Amino acid sequence: MKTPELVVALDFSTAHEADLLRQKLQGLDVIYKVGLELFVAEGPRWVEKLAKDGERVFLDLKLHDIPNTVHSTLRRIESLGVEMTTVHAMGGQAMVDFPTKLRVLGVTILTSHSEQDWAQWTSTWTGADRALSDSFASVVDKIKDWNLGGVVCSPLELVPLKKLWPSAYAVVPGIRSGAKKDDQSRTATPREAAAWGADAMVVGRPITRATQPREAAEAILKEIS
Ligand code: C5P
Repeated sequence: MKTPELVVALDFSTAHEADLLRQKLQGLDVIYKVGLELFVAEGPRWVEKLAKDGERVFLDLKLHDIPNTVHSTLRRIESLGVEMTTVHAMGGQAMVDFPTKLRVLGVTILTSHSEQDWAQWTSTWTGADRALSDSFASVVDKIKDWNLGGVVCSPLELVPLKKLWPSAYAVVPGIRSGAKKDDQSRTATPREAAAWGADAMVVGRPITRATQPREAAEAILKEIS
């Protein structure tokens, strides 16, 4: 089993809070994920500075718009020095399939959807309710031939993902060790995600809201090594 990378989600509203956490985690082998909240609060120059400071940065903006808008945004993201970014696979081939030196990950089905609300939601859009596993399999079967550097999915979808697309770089949020799930639904422990083939796992609140964030991150790194 290879050791997955640990991505720490900097889900904060200020650079100050993000920098405090970075200080606490200094020296640990992690990638920092900047999501919408911090990006809107601090902007692209702060993201660029984070990369210039030597951090590995994943800019998670989950783009979903008309192809021209997404492609020109990807060009701007390229110039920030980040390593990875995300687009919603739901945007379709014309939007997603775009050559870039970034690792672009296709977001499949958000880990906050439960089986039940996915069935209701697909029924609202299409008139037919669909099992989440069927939707996932048909989406992966399409996007595997597109210009993508990997996929964001639930750890519970890792096994079907690797069957359909063995070389996909799989990034999984929804990592929980205890009973507290917050707003996540389809979760797994770090050990399970590693055993099922995760290439990187995204952890936010279990580290950022821990009383001792460094110990929490170290425990996860130990569990997956
Ligand atoms: O705090 P928690 O560990 O739940 O944070 C998970 C992070 O992963 C958040 O930053 C969230 O935006 C992100 N994410 C997710 N589900 C996806 C894609 C990204 O939870 N499908």
